[in-house]
Amino acid sequence: MSELASTTRRGWAGLAHADPALQAFVAGLVQSPLPDGVAGWAIGHTTRDAADQAAELAAGRSNAEFGESPHNYQPSMAVDVWPIDNEGNVLDRPDAPEGYRLIAELAEAAGLTGGFRWGWDFGHVELSDWRDRVETWAPPRAGSGTLLALLLGALLLLVRT
Ligand SMILES: [Zn+2]
Repeated sequence: MSELASTTRRGWAGLAHADPALQAFVAGLVQSPLPDGVAGWAIGHTTRDAADQAAELAAGRSNAEFGESPHNYQPSMAVDVWPIDNEGNVLDRPDAPEGYRLIAELAEAAGLTGGFRWGWDFGHVELSDWRDRVETWAPPRAGSGTLLALLLGALLLLVRT
């Protein structure tokens, strides 16, 4: 059972907070021969908390509200991975097509879904059934606490008068 993420985790250390299937996928990627022009791999977000999800949304890097992204759960049900050059710079898809092709191939072979399927230009890989795993999730009901306080206040007023 996955719970909503209370902290954001990035990078290789964050991988420990990703679903085991994603960890195995990244391990396979690291063990594969490096494609031409690729010096290594960078890991981005695994878990992403509410503040960071809002920031991604505002920046146009995500179209999901908190709870609607596989990154918003612990363990994370998505990982972002990119090819890098010798200086550690992230390579875009046109500069490292073979790197992105390898990510997509290994993800599909592991039964995962890559963002490439939707034409994304970066290496987002997620559990194919992540939505099924969180179908019990519902957004918090805003204002229910406030409503209760108002009711109590009204009751106290009635008692006094
Ligand atoms: Zn992602």
